[in-house]
Amino acid sequence: MGKKRILLIGTGGTIASEMGENGLAPELTSSQLLQYIPDISGICEVDCIQLFSLDSTNIRPEHWLRIAKAVQECYSQYDGFVVSHGTDTMAYTAAGLSYLIQNSRKPIVLTGAQKPIGYETTDSKQNLRDAFTVAASDMFGVMLVFNGKIITGTRARKTHSKSFEAFSSINYPIVGMVQDGRIIQYIRPEGSAQTRFYESLDPKVALLKLAPGIDCGVAEYLLERNSALIIESFGVGGLPVYETGSFYETIKRGLDAGKTVVLTTQVENEGSDLSVYHVGSRIKRNLPILEAYDMTTEAVIAKLMWTLSQTNQRAEAAKLFYTPVACDILYAVED
Ligand code: ASP
Repeated sequence: MGKKRILLIGTGGTIASEMGENGLAPELTSSQLLQYIPDISGICEVDCIQLFSLDSTNIRPEHWLRIAKAVQECYSQYDGFVVSHGTDTMAYTAAGLSYLIQNSRKPIVLTGAQKPIGYETTDSKQNLRDAFTVAASDMFGVMLVFNGKIITGTRARKTHSKSFEAFSSINYPIVGMVQDGRIIQYIRPEGSAQTRFYESLDPKVALLKLAPGIDCGVAEYLLERNSALIIESFGVGGLPVYETGSFYETIKRGLDAGKTVVLTTQVENEGSDLSVYHVGSRIKRNLPILEAYDMTTEAVIAKLMWTLSQTNQRAEAAKLFYTPVACDILYAVED
């Protein structure tokens, strides 16, 4: 059997950055990145394209659409795809691609680095090698490969801002590891459904993290300007009731105006359960809000953007939101 053919899609990030007068900025193209790892030709054949060169701070949902389109256009020509990307918003892009490219039978692997590829001490080369190893394997779907970990695209989060061990898999085990060029796969997801590409997103999704004493006018403001509002509340979930104003009433007005509201938690592990406390159960029982359960906030944002581009019917949106995509939600208790 011949070597696998992989497409490397460059988008910028630290991995491709060089030091300038005002700090690091992405300069190198994907073919320049490849020159740093000539040994990759032992693993697979690689073609390169450069979509844009951005610090991932500047990446928006429209860039996720461009990456998904590039994969779609070349899907039949390659066995796998590596997307080199900044680490700061890589987990969001991984989630976005997981909804835009569903049931892929080929691996689509995001990677990047905490240190530029030209530095003497860098994680860039190992992360790229590992990403190509996974992209040339029989694994499939959208994954993030970093510091040896293989993480499902809907479960990744950047949890360290400086260390090489930058990403964690939230509320779901890592799928496997790459060690010394070998894949140790812990989970083998089943997959027989047909690959499907989507070409639209509704980017008007806002996120509000609660702080003690927060003014509910902030939620009002965000609801007026967006199709959906995600509220990261405390613990297993609930909304504060203050003498000065009620989140309940604010959200009710937003829902009456046709907006979508999702409640989630700012606690990293184990997810929400609004039914537990009075501050949560009243809202859950009486208002047609959605609950994130064990989904990551990154995945909730991307899934809502995808869901709302598919339907503006509340019941249909709820059905799509609670239907698992790429292992994004395990614990949805809806009646
Ligand atoms: N600011 C960079 C980015 O996200 C950080 C990195 O790539 O590690 O593009």
